[in-house]
Amino acid sequence: AALDLKDPSLLETRGFVNGVWIGKATTFPVLNPATGDCIAHVADLDVADTAAAIAAADAARADWAACTGKERGAILRRWFDLMIANADDLATILTAEMGKPWHEARGEILYGASFIEWFAEEAKRVYGDVIPGHQRDKRIVVLKQPVGVVGAITPWNFPNAMIARKVAPALAVGCTFVVRPAELTPLSALAMAVLGQRAGIPAGVLNVIPSSDAATIGQELCDNEKVAKITFTGSTRVGKILMRQCADTIKKMSLELGGNAPFIVFDDADIDAAVEGAMIAKYRNNGQTCVCANRIYVQSGVYDEFAAKLKEKVAALKVGDGFSEGVTTGPLINEAALAKVEDHISDATGKGAQVIAGGTRLPRGGNFFAPTILTGVTAAMKIAREETFGPVAPLFRFEDEADVIAMANDSEFGLAAYFYSNDHGRVWRVAEALESGMVGINTGLISTELAPFGGIKQSGLGREGSRYGTEDYLEIKYLCLSGN
Ligand code: ADP
Repeated sequence: AALDLKDPSLLETRGFVNGVWIGKATTFPVLNPATGDCIAHVADLDVADTAAAIAAADAARADWAACTGKERGAILRRWFDLMIANADDLATILTAEMGKPWHEARGEILYGASFIEWFAEEAKRVYGDVIPGHQRDKRIVVLKQPVGVVGAITPWNFPNAMIARKVAPALAVGCTFVVRPAELTPLSALAMAVLGQRAGIPAGVLNVIPSSDAATIGQELCDNEKVAKITFTGSTRVGKILMRQCADTIKKMSLELGGNAPFIVFDDADIDAAVEGAMIAKYRNNGQTCVCANRIYVQSGVYDEFAAKLKEKVAALKVGDGFSEGVTTGPLINEAALAKVEDHISDATGKGAQVIAGGTRLPRGGNFFAPTILTGVTAAMKIAREETFGPVAPLFRFEDEADVIAMANDSEFGLAAYFYSNDHGRVWRVAEALESGMVGINTGLISTELAPFGGIKQSGLGREGSRYGTEDYLEIKYLCLSGN
């Protein structure tokens, strides 16, 4: 079935290189995860196209960097305005290829656009520094300059926003950009490029390489000497591959990798608020975000109450096709995602956990899984160590603060953490002790373009959003002036 778009030209299926739309005899299908239907056949670009895009980005970078921040900001601002004006269509494309409920998809479009707006403004604020000299005739000046050509590799779980968070700061400070979107969700990326071209982004500054072959395109982005930096969002496994591949050319890297977020409920917390927060932190995007609560630790005194209240809320979720009215929870992305969720549940129940909600695929078939709660979960279970990336809330019981901090930190990941407490002293103690790049305190939703998003430990390098977000795309140059 054709997508219901106000502007059908947003459903672009060709690659975008040097300002030109590139069709290919070879294509790959994009499937709707709710129905299995093929939405479109997308041009399958190859290594030569990637090299051409990198060369175009390299050729475009001097002029783009020479623009004033205000000039670049004005183009980004037009791009933001076009994304807002076309938010409904962009959401429709996103739901079709990724599955999340349409209203949530529209929320992602606004969230993604907010980064373009923010960095459009920041483009004017790339400040350097003047440092008092070390000798009477010396002056020290610090310049910030764009790193150059940026290669981006992005995942399917936020097909729009994960690109927006990277392309906006890169373009704002004067870098040029080549992105390879996830093969499962290239249409959202291409629609963004259609609007970017309309906004006046010059040829070569933004290039999109749809491709079914992640490894080969990734290798070219990493090997090519014209690429100064790789920015990646995805699994820690692939992040490690990219980091190795980038060693030979000493590329700068921003990596936003896996998480295994603890979500802690202390017995002094507002339990209803904690349940609300857990619903968002766990079930938003059907559990398919890197900041999803993956391990929910509840203090003994409130464990049963929390579990019962969470169960009530979970019963109210409506799973279905993201285009259907009232649906809160879409399908999982594919069969592999379902298999992982099932594996984590059966491993846990095999080791003594109980299923108090969900636990199975939905009888309707497809990629739908019932939102699930497990009680009696322990550190011995797989779900305690691995990111589930699905709608499973595992409830661990704990007795005291020191124990739960140790359990929360017992992970190679360090992206997000959440906790609920109304004790002022505890809030500071726990916030400082948690090993993660971001901590939500009495909230389950932390993402905003105004704040620095990113992880520590094996969750990654660098930050996206906020005034810190431009730093990842800038080099420092120090001028030593003598002779006055
Ligand atoms: P996810 O679990 O989100 O799919 P991945 O790390 O597997 O995480 O995928 C994130 C992105 O990285 C996707 O666009 C995927 O196609 C791409 N990718 C996967 N393997 C490689 C690779 N070897 N080199 C470059 N990109 C890759």
